[in-house]
Amino acid sequence: MKFIVAIDGTAASGKGTLAKKTANHFGFKYLDTGILYRVVAYYLKSSEIHSEISKQNIQDSLKLLFNKDFQLSLLRNKEISLKASIISKNKIVRDNLLTYQREFAMQEGGTVLDGRDIGTVVCPNADVKIFVDADIEIRAKRRYNQYLKHNSNLNLRDIIDELTKRDNFDRNRQLSPLASAKDAYLLDTSNITPAEGFKKIIQLISKKLKK
Ligand code: C5P
Repeated sequence: MKFIVAIDGTAASGKGTLAKKTANHFGFKYLDTGILYRVVAYYLKSSEIHSEISKQNIQDSLKLLFNKDFQLSLLRNKEISLKASIISKNKIVRDNLLTYQREFAMQEGGTVLDGRDIGTVVCPNADVKIFVDADIEIRAKRRYNQYLKHNSNLNLRDIIDELTKRDNFDRNRQLSPLASAKDAYLLDTSNITPAEGFKKIIQLISKKLKK
């Protein structure tokens, strides 16, 4: 059985957590597509490649993800987040990651992909499409609380600025901008609990699976 769930949304909207839980619940395979852009950003930065990005560069970046000694935590910081957003407008980067994402999506047994352009470009024929969003202050506050455990020098204003900057880059780029597909279900998590958001997604998928 092939069954694709596309979960897109703004930065720190909670789409990743929802997507992972959804995949676990249904026994589907899960791909966080943001991590692909993050690892390319990391690779280009550490290799000091600032222009003329090649297909080989993208392949070498992806190899890092399959290296068990590579620390994924290196991809989760402000610098890499912003760099990922900047390099994600590049056509070579997007085209090469597109192939990888489509192959992943088409696997048997059901898949869940989360990102910015899954429902619009990567999998326009996905079985279920969801677009997750929440007010910027609420998203920033959640991220603040999440990071506080590891870093006490956090400033809420800085997080609001970073998320706003990234969303603007992502919404306004020419190729595959951050956007909700016309047939996506809009899930605003500003005033609901993660459990309520998850329940809604389960309902949408279960209904479609029964058809
Ligand atoms: O989802 P995450 O915040 O990890 O994504 C990091 C960046 O990667 C985003 O800000 C965006 O620029 C880029 N991205 C993208 N398309 C996707 C997933 C992520 O352009 N499908």
